This record gives sequence, C-alpha cells and structure tokens, in this order.
Amino acid sequence: MFSIVAPVWNEAASLPEFISRVSEVMQAQGKSWELLLVDDGSTDGSAELITQAAQKDSRIRPVLFARNFGHQIAVTAGMDYARGEAVVLIDADLQDPPEIIPELIAKWREGYQVVYAQRRRREGESFFKRFTASFFYRLINRITAIEIPLDTGDFRLMDRRVVDVLNQMREHHRFLRGMSAWVGFRQVGVPYDRAARFAGQTHYTLGRMIRLALTAITGFSFFPLQVATYLGFVTALLAILAIPVVIAVRLMGSAAFFGQATTLIAVLFFGGVQLISLGILGEYIGRLYDEVRGRPLYIVRQGPDDAAPKRPTAAKRHKKN
Ligand code: UDP
Ligand code: MG
Repeated sequence: MFSIVAPVWNEAASLPEFISRVSEVMQAQGKSWELLLVDDGSTDGSAELITQAAQKDSRIRPVLFARNFGHQIAVTAGMDYARGEAVVLIDADLQDPPEIIPELIAKWREGYQVVYAQRRRREGESFFKRFTASFFYRLINRITAIEIPLDTGDFRLMDRRVVDVLNQMREHHRFLRGMSAWVGFRQVGVPYDRAARFAGQTHYTLGRMIRLALTAITGFSFFPLQVATYLGFVTALLAILAIPVVIAVRLMGSAAFFGQATTLIAVLFFGGVQLISLGILGEYIGRLYDEVRGRPLYIVRQGPDDAAPKRPTAAKRHKKN
C-alpha cells in the first residue's frame, strides 16, 4: 500500500482539485493507496471538505487537529497515521504536482529508501523567496554535519523503514528535510518543476521562514554556540594585545585612549557581544525546555478511525496538569 500525506491549512480552494488529481494518479498505479489529509486547524471550511471527501471515499483518511500546529507537525501526524509500505509527503496547494508521484515510486522500486523531489524551477514565487531559500540551503550545508540536498522541500517518498525511524524521533522543533537526510539509507533525487500555487497565498511568511531556519540550525548544529566561544577568544586576544600598546602610548606621552568615548565604545561593544551570546544560549535553552516538558506534538480532535470527536487526548492533558 502507498500512503500519501498532505498537510492542509486553509486550502479549501485547492482541495477538491488536489484530491481528484491525486486519486487519478494513484488509480493508475494499480495498487492500494490511502490519502491522509491532515487539517492543521483550518478556519475556511477545509476540515468539512476533508470530512465529506472521506465519507465518499474510504481511501481518504482525515486527521483533524484541535488547532494550528504548523506544517512540519501536520506532516508528522500524517506519518504517524500512515500505514503504507511507502509514504509520500506532498503539499495540498498543488505546488508539488501529484503527477510526479509515479516517478518517485519508480525510484523506490529500484531500491532507494528516500526519494526526494528536487526543484528545477519554481513558478510564481518571488525573487526574495528564491534568494532566501537558496541562501538558507547553502548555509545549512556549510554549518551542519548533515548534507541536505539543495533545493528540496518536503515533497518526497520514504520507505516504511525510514518512516518508522522518523516516527521514533519525537523532537518538538522539527525540520523533516534535515531529519530524513540525517537517518541515512539510500537516497536519490528526482528533478521537477515546482508549480505556482493553485489558489491562495503562501502561509510561510518571513517570520515563519526564519523560525524554520532557526529550527534547522539549532536542530543539527552547535555552530551558533561555538560562534560565542570564537568571539570570546578573539576579543580577549585583542584586549591582551591592546594592553602593552596602550601602556607604551601613554608612556610616550600621547593623549590617545583618554576620555569617556573610548571607554563607552568598549563597554557597548562587549555589552552587545554578551547579549548576543546570551540570546544564542536562550534559543537552545528554550528548545531544551520545550523538549523536556514532553507535551504531545499535536492534539487530534478527530482521527481517521474515530466515529465521533475524540475525548481521551483532552482527558490526558488534564491529568498531567
Ligand atoms: N500548512 C500547514 N500548516 C501551516 C502552514 C502550512 O498545514 O501552519 C500546509 C499548507 O496548507 C500547504 C503546505 O503546508 O499544504 C505548504 O505550505 P505553503 O504552501 O504555505 O508553503 P510554501 O509552499 O509557500 O513553502
Ligand atoms: Mg506552497
């Protein structure tokens, strides 16, 4: 069986088209399949559309979140519920053409465990988005130990073994592209042209993109922490070198390095360096705190196999408090 996992947040305008295109493509494969539609707390009626579609077609399995948890978490929930031997992650806005899925499946049949779709072109996205995205991938590959293939998104196929490993990694700040590169296995890319959105606007605002970038960097490297160390060494060295220089200059009777301005600049500089270092520490500690609390990654208000809205999750939360 193949599982298709699609996160949905306010995609009512594209959903019917998405469902029919996926169904058509999967029908042609001649194997059994399921489509997991994870509603990430939509407010535009997407959840109702998903429920209706599931009533008409039992291969469509709805996972409805209690609120918006974010794209990466929605995909994670879909992977938790997926039962297939291979799982395909795809966006519901039709930017990832479902027609590429057979190519991913073909590579999987050749024996690859992770088949990621690699963007050759991107339509309908601003220069700024493309520039920041390409800068981001290059930065990640430079400073982290993992090798994330350039210009890949979450559109990919993963073998059951890979999905089982990823499902065991319950980190709250998730960067799935990185995690699926981290696990290893045999990986290969399939080039494709990323389409423009079928309808609506991107939900990845600049703020969300920066957050995802921070998750990727802190999730896979200590580089920012090390930057604080390097900065410390460099400034300490500068200070040590400056001491004899200042003494010599003063002994020669020069008026350099007198006055408040010099002191003030030094104090402000070190204040800045220290605050930045504290902030970097804070980023890691905040994430650590999130992990330690061990809250559930997401709260499902209705899963694919529930008849009525589920209660136990709310009860469990209550017991914990
Ligand atoms: N999405 C989601 N939760 C969110 C943000 C996005 O489930 O908080 C879904 C969205 O419906 C879409 C996919 O994730 O199917 C990708 O989002 P988007 O198209 O906004 O990102 P982009 O393609 O611009 O990177
Ligand atoms: Mg999109």
